[in-house]
Amino acid sequence: MAGTSSQANGLNWPALPMDLHPLLESALPKLLSHSREYALIVLDAAGRIVQWLGASQQLMGFSAEEMIGRHAGEIFISPDREKGFDELEMAIARESGRCEDDRWHVRKDGARIWVSGSMEAVREESGAVVGYVKVMRDRTDLRIHVDRLESRLLDCEAAAQRTRAFLRTLGHEMRNPLAPLRNASTIIQRTNDDPRADKAVEIILGQIEVLTRLADDLMEVSRLDARKVRLDLQRHDLRVLLRETHDAFRQSAHEKGLNLILMVPKGPLWVDVDRPKFHQAASNLVSNAIKYTPRGGKVWIKATQEGRDVLMRVEDTGLGISAELLPRLFELFSRGAAAEEAAPGGMGIGLSVVRELIDLHGGSVEARSSGAGKGSEFTVRLPGVDTQGQHIDG
Ligand code: ADP
Repeated sequence: MAGTSSQANGLNWPALPMDLHPLLESALPKLLSHSREYALIVLDAAGRIVQWLGASQQLMGFSAEEMIGRHAGEIFISPDREKGFDELEMAIARESGRCEDDRWHVRKDGARIWVSGSMEAVREESGAVVGYVKVMRDRTDLRIHVDRLESRLLDCEAAAQRTRAFLRTLGHEMRNPLAPLRNASTIIQRTNDDPRADKAVEIILGQIEVLTRLADDLMEVSRLDARKVRLDLQRHDLRVLLRETHDAFRQSAHEKGLNLILMVPKGPLWVDVDRPKFHQAASNLVSNAIKYTPRGGKVWIKATQEGRDVLMRVEDTGLGISAELLPRLFELFSRGAAAEEAAPGGMGIGLSVVRELIDLHGGSVEARSSGAGKGSEFTVRLPGVDTQGQHIDG
């Protein structure tokens, strides 16, 4: 029987490459006619149904008597038929041997089913197409599951969008009263001689700074997410920027009984950065180090160079970061349990803003910690620029 066609179950099977025992050969159509899962439809060269095997009746609801002689296009839903998908399927199978697709069909009882199908062209030895074999499987359950997941994903995206809009509004609303509060505090500071009032105003001003940073982060997080942030890049010496950061936090570190140490090299470290954005990122790292380091500890702000990169490092002797928090540390709303205990009410926004801002600068940020109670180290890498203004190549 090698190299010939055989008549089995009325079906013209393609030539077989090797001898096949007649029992095996006849087992195939028998198996298919009993298949509960796979529908098998055989079409002639014009696309008319000549065999309706396997689970075809179960799948589509039509019996073989009803379907044999009809065009295969009739099992397609009308919009697909109008678009010519039935003909296209055969054309693709003719051209490339096989066509696979998943689409909706309608059963005899009117129910829609999602069918995964595969059609192959069957050829004579001369190469002429004598017909097509189509295997179909009902995947409605899978499709419904995918649809459900997709709709859940859309819901999640919509919820995330609402959250971002809420954060932006919150940041806005928070920032509005801060400017008059700052102005009023400064007026009290200037017009009052009582040193106790001076101290009180200093505390108020310090807390206004904390709230301003939080409001800025809240507004930034939604802008960054919507890719709405534009950088105004200028050349700066990182040592100068870090001196400014150090100066801004000297007071709060002192009040907390911390030693805030700035360590920079003698020579300049040129970087192209957006100064306010860089300060926002650096401030978030330094304010965290201060917040999460207990009294008597140390915080270092360091600048150095490694190959082409210019590095800023913020190190502390504080709470440290647990191994399970480290991988998701820079995600929005990520907070450690120890941090929650040490500084309740944090929002877990600051580090995600740091990452986005540093990313925008073409840099990267990473965190290291040997574990709880062992201090933390945050390293920001920025592309360095040499004195001629060229980006350093390595
Ligand atoms: P927040 O400080 O408001 O929680 P962040 O996004 O700035 O938000 O920080 C996220 C989390 O990262 C913190 O809650 C804390 O668990 C951890 N973390 C950040 N910086 C430090 C640090 N210097 N030492 C220990 N943990 C830190």
